[in-house]
Amino acid sequence: MIVKRLLMQFELDSTEQGDTLSGLRQTCPMAVYPHLFRPLDIGNVTLPNRILMGSMHTGLEELGDFDRVAAYYARRAEGGVALMVTGGMAPNLEGAVLPGAAGLFTDEDIANHARVTCAVHEAGGRIAMQILHAGRYGYSPECVAPSPIKSPISPYTPNELDDEGIEKQISDIVATARRAQQAGYDGVEVMGSEGYFLNQFLVTRTNKRTDRWGGSFENRMRLPVEIVRRVRQATGPNFMLIYRLSMIDLVPGGSNWAEVVKLAKAVEDAGAGLLNTGIGWHEARIPTIAASVPRRAFSWVTEKLMGQVGIPVIASNRINTPEVAEAILAEGAADMVSMARPFLADPDFVRKAREGRSPEITPCIACNQACLDFTFEMKIATCVVNPQAAHETELVYRPADNPKSIAVVGAGPAGLSAALVAAERGHAVTLFERASEIGGQLGMASRVPGKEEFLGLVRWYRDMLELRGVDVHLGTEASAGQLKRFDEVVVATGVVPRDPNIPVEGGCVVNYADILTGREVAGERVAIVGAGGIGFDVAEFLTTEASPTVDLDAWRDEWGVTDPEVHRAGLVPDGPNPSHGRRQVSLFQRKDERPGRRLGRTTGWIHRTALQMKSVRMEGGVKYEKVGADGLHITCRDGTREVVPADTVVLCTGQLSDRALADALLAGGTAPHIIGGADTAAGLDARRAIDQGARLAARL
Ligand code: NAP
Ligand code: SF4
Repeated sequence: MIVKRLLMQFELDSTEQGDTLSGLRQTCPMAVYPHLFRPLDIGNVTLPNRILMGSMHTGLEELGDFDRVAAYYARRAEGGVALMVTGGMAPNLEGAVLPGAAGLFTDEDIANHARVTCAVHEAGGRIAMQILHAGRYGYSPECVAPSPIKSPISPYTPNELDDEGIEKQISDIVATARRAQQAGYDGVEVMGSEGYFLNQFLVTRTNKRTDRWGGSFENRMRLPVEIVRRVRQATGPNFMLIYRLSMIDLVPGGSNWAEVVKLAKAVEDAGAGLLNTGIGWHEARIPTIAASVPRRAFSWVTEKLMGQVGIPVIASNRINTPEVAEAILAEGAADMVSMARPFLADPDFVRKAREGRSPEITPCIACNQACLDFTFEMKIATCVVNPQAAHETELVYRPADNPKSIAVVGAGPAGLSAALVAAERGHAVTLFERASEIGGQLGMASRVPGKEEFLGLVRWYRDMLELRGVDVHLGTEASAGQLKRFDEVVVATGVVPRDPNIPVEGGCVVNYADILTGREVAGERVAIVGAGGIGFDVAEFLTTEASPTVDLDAWRDEWGVTDPEVHRAGLVPDGPNPSHGRRQVSLFQRKDERPGRRLGRTTGWIHRTALQMKSVRMEGGVKYEKVGADGLHITCRDGTREVVPADTVVLCTGQLSDRALADALLAGGTAPHIIGGADTAAGLDARRAIDQGARLAARL
């Protein structure tokens, strides 16, 4: 049964990519993914496959616990990835992303990093260190740049470098590469994209100099080319040197395609051995890695560079399954693929793909919630779907000493996570779910345009429950009496939508759960009460006819992305061309602040922009008076009263814990473990639910 379902899932993925089904039954990696597992000769080294783990900042280095850093990278090396790139290391204080950012400055730093490289090499892997000079993105008054122009995403105006200052930056970067070599790294990646320092020299948007470092493109590219040349000179011919090149800047005044090609050729001549793809500056107002970006949305840009240079070219951004990666290579769109977040979600990504077990790969849903957002919140990065990520030394799933019978009630994120980890540890797990499908809030999220990746997550849970032998009872309301026979009971019954008790004198009022589980919405005018994550999701759902996330051309049109050979930086001159919302939607909250302000740090702006593009009215500081047949009656921030015409009012006003079962168990003398929304509804999200489920199951 499991094999049949896994085959069906593979068929789904494969058919999308125009592949055939024949591969899964075979364990030969070349048969399943012939291009992905073809070795790559990069001169002095032959990489065993075409998969690079791209650079990600976890914050572990700043903690100073290098055993933990080593465990994190070694775990991924064990999983079989050909090559990893570390998070960005600062070459000096003025080039740091923020004060205190990790770098390789002292002998002690070299010794610490040597522990990491040793652990990786012992695990059979290879690792290159990224050298990241932030330039004007540095969150410090000490930051430096080609010209004193503040970036829109930083409060600091950078200090303009003089000739001597530029020379210092070059020699600091070269010295950092040398130290990386001494620490045992297999190579370095010079970060030349995403709008950082080197990128800032390349374009007139940020480089207004008139000396030999500015003016003509030859002058503007002098700095990155000189850095590559001198790093190569200092590290010798056998040290891997990757240059991350911005292939489509997505900011006004960014590079055109001729400049991209010219730079690529120049860094190759200067000694780079691999070219990695950078997509968009951090200040770009076009999403590049969020879940709403179509899979492999930018591999066509990398493909344009194929054949222009003699060194391998690496594709990146929104590549999250072996099927997608294989298709990119099979089409000749790149020589190698870079995936970053998928290795947080599953360190065994490559091993599972190689063994023909790709349906078992825990899917990265591109949410950014526990990786990038955590980094911006100065927390250690981890992963929503894999709480062990970057916590390898502390959250360990050991085989159970005394296997027990465990009942888990509720197959939402918390219950699913607890059931899987408990089963993995050897417990006999029975999972009860009152709905006819597993997933809970995950299933609802999967229906939101731009969140299609949740479908794969629910499917993964379903398959893994079967693979781990969890006894699943769908459509079953577990009673307290029924649960007495189990050694342990885990209550993960989730939440119920909160009723805000707004007087209803007419009209149609529904809640978000109704809408996201298939209830038809009456009329074309909708007022949404509550502008949290779910309010935004519902607005997106109600205003989107067909999700552009599954249609690359439509997505590019919507956001105004074009070929950088046609228009500089890949921006359509007329800007985005959003599809018109199919409904007239308004979104309200009581807090007197900009709606959406509390959404994810790296994705909130995308949700706000998407709704603005669909003319959704978003307003804070309102008071709800009543719902009438004519619509939602509100008092606005300035005290004026207004009737918002609405055929339907949707309540997205948060949740309350569903504790009925927990209370019944407690009354009957059973002490259950209560997790997820049933435990605390306030501020609950998938990350906290999955983490809590996994941590409980690791202890049972
Ligand atoms: P939420 O983010 O807490 O938002 C609840 C909304 O309801 C707020 O706008 C709140 O604003 C309003 N509200 C609360 N009590 C109310 C009352 N009694 N009367 C009227 N309005 C009331 O919760 P959620 O939207 O249900 O999301 C649940 C969790 O999932 C959250 O942790 C959220 O971050 C997460 N999530 C995130 C995303 C995303 O980032 N894209 C998407 C979906 C879910 P006022 O009190 O100001 O009116
Ligand atoms: Fe992927 Fe989300 Fe995990 Fe980040 S937190 S690695 S985006 S699933």
